[in-house]
Amino acid sequence: MARGTQNIHAVNLQPSHLVAMRRADVFIEVGLSLEHAFVPGILMSSRNRKIEPGLPGFIQCSTGWEAINVPPQVDRGIAADVHPMGNPHMNLDPRAGRFFAERILEGLSAVEPASREYFVQRHGDYVRRLAVAEERWSKLGARLKGKKVVTYHRDMVYFARAYGIEVVDNVEPQPGVPPTARDLAETIKIMKQEGVGVVLSAKWSNNQNTRFVAEKAGARVVEVPLMVGGVSRTETWIGMMDFLHEELVNALAPED
Ligand SMILES: [Zn+2]
Repeated sequence: MARGTQNIHAVNLQPSHLVAMRRADVFIEVGLSLEHAFVPGILMSSRNRKIEPGLPGFIQCSTGWEAINVPPQVDRGIAADVHPMGNPHMNLDPRAGRFFAERILEGLSAVEPASREYFVQRHGDYVRRLAVAEERWSKLGARLKGKKVVTYHRDMVYFARAYGIEVVDNVEPQPGVPPTARDLAETIKIMKQEGVGVVLSAKWSNNQNTRFVAEKAGARVVEVPLMVGGVSRTETWIGMMDFLHEELVNALAPED
């Protein structure tokens, strides 16, 4: 339902989404509140019993995932930002493909046990393709170790952790909270101190503030996909991750 170029924290519902939800046998989301802006409302409106949370037709890919940046229990009710359950951008972790595929295999098999053998075979094919891709990624990722970036939104934490990239600051002071002039000045100061030459943004977050901090700090803005379809040539998850690895190596380690 959400397009890859959209801010997933702020997706607006369309009538066509409701039609699709009423017809669905299975609904798949990342979870960790990533789709909180639109999924709970449309699930309720669709009145489709097959895809109710808790039933096999509702597949949450983050089930069992260990989130990072989890706020203390006491803060969660306040919902100070759009990441109340920890960082939900797990789809950018290089290990996420395997993790998602496993959840989807389990979910589909529970919905249609008679087809389990077929699902297992398809899962096996996908995992073999992932294994080849993961080799490409680990070679590229090794070149990113210790590189410093600033991101607009706090969306690269899993990717950065995988390769030892240092995210020294975010343009947004909190996820989903626009920066004030003071926040921008602070980010510019940190970028100059740390010698950061790249601000990562998505298509939706390549805005005035992003370009302002980059310009003032003598850095450049690099647009990356945060979801499948986030930029062209990224129509599959593996394709998106290929693009992300290549783009970051070009931006941060072209000479290596
Ligand atoms: Zn977010």
